[in-house]
Amino acid sequence: MSANTISPQMIDQVAQSGLPERSGPRQKVVIVGAGMAGLVAGYELLRAGHEPLILEARQRVGGRIETLREPFTHGLYAEAGAMRIPRTHHLTLGYCEKFGLTLRPFTMGNPRAYYYFAGRKFRAGEVGQNPELLPFDLTPGERGKSAGQLWREAIREIEEALRTHGEAAWTGIAEEFDQFSTREFLEYKGWSEGAIEMYGLMADQEALMNSSFLELLREDVGGFYEDMSEIEGGMDSLPRAFLPALGRNIRFGAKMMAMDQSPEGVIIHYQTGAGRFTAEGDYAIITVPFPVLRHVEVVKPFSRAKQRAIRQLHYDASAKIVMQFRRRFWEEDDGIYGGGTTSDLPIRATYYPDHSQETGRGVLLASYTWSEDAQRWGSLSPRDRIEQALENLMLIHPQVREEFEIGATKMWHDDEFAGGAFALFDPGQQTLLYQAIINPEGRIYFAGEHASLAHAWIQGAIESGLRTAMQVHQAAAGAG
Ligand code: FAD
Repeated sequence: MSANTISPQMIDQVAQSGLPERSGPRQKVVIVGAGMAGLVAGYELLRAGHEPLILEARQRVGGRIETLREPFTHGLYAEAGAMRIPRTHHLTLGYCEKFGLTLRPFTMGNPRAYYYFAGRKFRAGEVGQNPELLPFDLTPGERGKSAGQLWREAIREIEEALRTHGEAAWTGIAEEFDQFSTREFLEYKGWSEGAIEMYGLMADQEALMNSSFLELLREDVGGFYEDMSEIEGGMDSLPRAFLPALGRNIRFGAKMMAMDQSPEGVIIHYQTGAGRFTAEGDYAIITVPFPVLRHVEVVKPFSRAKQRAIRQLHYDASAKIVMQFRRRFWEEDDGIYGGGTTSDLPIRATYYPDHSQETGRGVLLASYTWSEDAQRWGSLSPRDRIEQALENLMLIHPQVREEFEIGATKMWHDDEFAGGAFALFDPGQQTLLYQAIINPEGRIYFAGEHASLAHAWIQGAIESGLRTAMQVHQAAAGAG
């Protein structure tokens, strides 16, 4: 079954009730990667009576869902990867519910948190009431409006088209706007340089201004940053919840090195600490990110279109710097319970944890950056990253020097099994590459957040895992 004939409704149906009853023979399916895409595909194929084998290079499930419990003291943790789930991500929430995981609110906007720009600190609530407090060079027509108001005005027509025509409007929107970066779209809408700077800083989009406008638009109109939750005890509870059912079908420490296929089946060559092995199957589902796939030998070459997609798909960088403090001074002294502070400092965005209040301590996400901002942190030594981030944070919260206990950093663009944080289309790439990214190559299918239009979200990984499980299931029925 081609990817194009699988509708979102069919995917929802599989998420709720599993794959349709198996009519063809039981299939051996080699899945590479035990992130959310691979886990969901393996789980649904197993439930439908197939025989999945998941090869995972690391010693854990979850991939880019990674809850750090070390080096922190008892009961504390931080999220190096995914940390929040919006209300609209029904597939992600559906699997949380299926496994009985407890969710708690993840605070986004908090009027008590700060903006720190050009050496001055403002409470977010103050700026909300009086945007003119901020030092941006705006035209008379822009003055007095917040970055959010200006943005809503800029996308009003697009929102109207979506309200009138629903999902069908996306075809026209993509045709009209795929070539635009966010910066180009704002220029096209007549924004001044001061307004672009204000939006970039306040919406924390400055580093992403040259990415496809459609990526930001999809997140915004899809409510991806609204009404958010986190999983009690850490986000890794979600991938770990698959282990009772699927654990015996996973081989850890197994790094794919090469893949081959014939009209009858697939062979994945992989490396473990004990040497080189092969796994043979009727089908394969490859979920590893494209930057990693670029270094895997493909014995029977993929189509030119797939090769180009693997070469060209843009991946963004992302860095997180987390710090344990002896006291929740942001709550006790500043009255900030959850949410984030945004600045023009190298640390950019700081998030105050909603969880672990019972410990009296807390692990602050001192810095969360993307693109060039993240790469600049990557060029420092781990020790310097923490020192520099502390210096930045001290300008906003002078208490940090006194209260600091330990820090940790994660650079996703330097991670051997990610090769980047997530796929993020450059302008034009949706039209140019999307179909080639998701198309199967013979008996090899492709899943992972990059093989969806919900890049950088668990939702996209799950959707692609369900899609490929359906494709394999249907192909097997045809073969039977
Ligand atoms: P992965 O999780 O990367 O899984 C791929 C797996 O393949 C990995 O386990 C990897 O070890 C394995 N692998 C790689 N190479 C090989 C090889 N050669 N052989 C064998 N195995 C291999 N999403 C949200 O919903 N909410 C958020 O708040 C959020 N925040 C994020 C913040 C950051 C910093 C990042 C990086 C991501 C964030 N995401 C968020 C996105 C989300 O984490 C991902 O979209 C999702 O986890 C990706 O799942 P996946 O299965 O596609 O890929």
